[in-house]
Amino acid sequence: MSTETITHWIDGRRWDGTAERQGDVFDPATGQITKAVDFATPEEVAGAVRSAKDAFEREWGRSTLTRRMQVMFRFRELVDTHKEDLAALITEEHGKVLSDALGEVSRGLEVVDFACGSAQLLKGSYSEQVASGVDVYSLRQPLGVVGIISPFNFPAMVPMWFFPIAIAAGNTVVLKPSEKDPSASMYIADLWRQAGLPDGVFNVVHGDKVAVDALLTHPDVASVSFVGSTPIARYVYETGTAHGKRVQALGGAKNHMLVLPDADLDLTADSAVNAGFGSAGERCMAISVIVAVEPVADDLIAAIASRMAGLRTGDGRKGCDMGPLVTAAHRDKVAGYVAAGVAEGADLVVDGREVAADGAAEGFWLGPTLFDRVTPDMSIYTDEIFGPVLSVVRVPTYEAGLALVNDHPYGNGTAIFTCDGGAARRFQNEVQVGMIGINVPIPVPMAYYSFGGWKASLFGDTHAHGVEGFHFFTRGKVVTSRWPDPTHGGINLGFPTTT
Ligand code: NAD
Repeated sequence: MSTETITHWIDGRRWDGTAERQGDVFDPATGQITKAVDFATPEEVAGAVRSAKDAFEREWGRSTLTRRMQVMFRFRELVDTHKEDLAALITEEHGKVLSDALGEVSRGLEVVDFACGSAQLLKGSYSEQVASGVDVYSLRQPLGVVGIISPFNFPAMVPMWFFPIAIAAGNTVVLKPSEKDPSASMYIADLWRQAGLPDGVFNVVHGDKVAVDALLTHPDVASVSFVGSTPIARYVYETGTAHGKRVQALGGAKNHMLVLPDADLDLTADSAVNAGFGSAGERCMAISVIVAVEPVADDLIAAIASRMAGLRTGDGRKGCDMGPLVTAAHRDKVAGYVAAGVAEGADLVVDGREVAADGAAEGFWLGPTLFDRVTPDMSIYTDEIFGPVLSVVRVPTYEAGLALVNDHPYGNGTAIFTCDGGAARRFQNEVQVGMIGINVPIPVPMAYYSFGGWKASLFGDTHAHGVEGFHFFTRGKVVTSRWPDPTHGGINLGFPTTT
């Protein structure tokens, strides 16, 4: 049986060359190979960068703000119109259930909405008469060609954290999406074409480390926005900056939910289940550790376990609650952590390895899993598992719980569940994490705020989207200007002052 081939999108069209290497794309709910994806060589990546550079120099870098906004608004409407198709493609290759895939597209669309208002954020400032006859003003200008490298878990939303802002600001883009679910980026590329974006402004190259390295070292790539696991994020940051690029590299996570004894038990248990098992735990903002301040643990675990009993794991197209994991290898890795947790002495309350999934036998299934009495030395606590495994650590006090969160190397998201406003306020001040929920389990910021973690969850100092996104994708200039005036002071070798 011949399978569909997904290839690169360069200069406004599908690339028509023959790839030297390819990868397999699976339908995780059936376990079948459904497509092949081309892997770019450094020369093919260079072709995409050349196209982006030409488009930047030819027109997009000097296009009017009005034109850019017109294209943005058309793109926004096209994504909204086609969001169901895009969601279906995501479910086919990632496995997450359709409603979740649609949610991802909606959250990405919010960044496009935000970028439609770029005119406000690209404005400079002006100070008149700072010295006699002298005015000072600031400008923000695009960087040029920007690279984006994205992970498998949000094939539409994560690239959309970056490219709407980059394009609205006048940059041109080369996106390297995950090779595991590459079709969403091709669908998006065609929507840009329909929106009237000039050829070469948005390019997609597929591949693995070879393509990533080619972007990181290409002299015409001005910046790299990366999202993925922490070891690769660190490598991307170090390599990209060593090659003179501006880099923001968002890494992995181990998000803790701190539950105080006065928390609303129903809200907390619902939130733990939603945030622990939504998208099969393959979210960088998933809750993977519940830190239960005693005496809350017994009641909370009973409430969570009873909710887990009602969850349906199966094919994301069939209205199930939770889909498969993305690949067989990843499913086996996560199942390996479940075995390690048992071996290390944690109490396995619900074992997802025994799930009866509503889907093909060959699907990459692992059901929701719950551990109690996890301790900080266990690998299920120290490592990012990135699957449907929730661990409960019991602690005696708020201070002991806070210390756990702050001592963990990751600092992406966290949440506190309590009815005590003072305790929540203290937590938001004391916790060493970038995104905090108060009785909200997945505190993903709106597009007009910025998304990013602390510690090993982010390398670089600029978070994604919001005002920080505009700063990342533009460079500042400050102009000091004087127009010829008979009152100028003549020769003066002293340092310019305003008096
Ligand atoms: P990954 O690190 O394996 O891959 C990310 C990207 O890097 C992909 O495009 C991949 O092709 C590329 N890549 C893989 N190996 C590489 C190598 N050796 N050298 C250079 N590039 C390489 O991550 P993933 O498995 O696709 O995604 C899951 C990870 O992403 C999790 O760790 C998750 O926490 C993280 N993530 C973080 C955020 C965040 O905002 N912090 C958001 C989403 C996902």
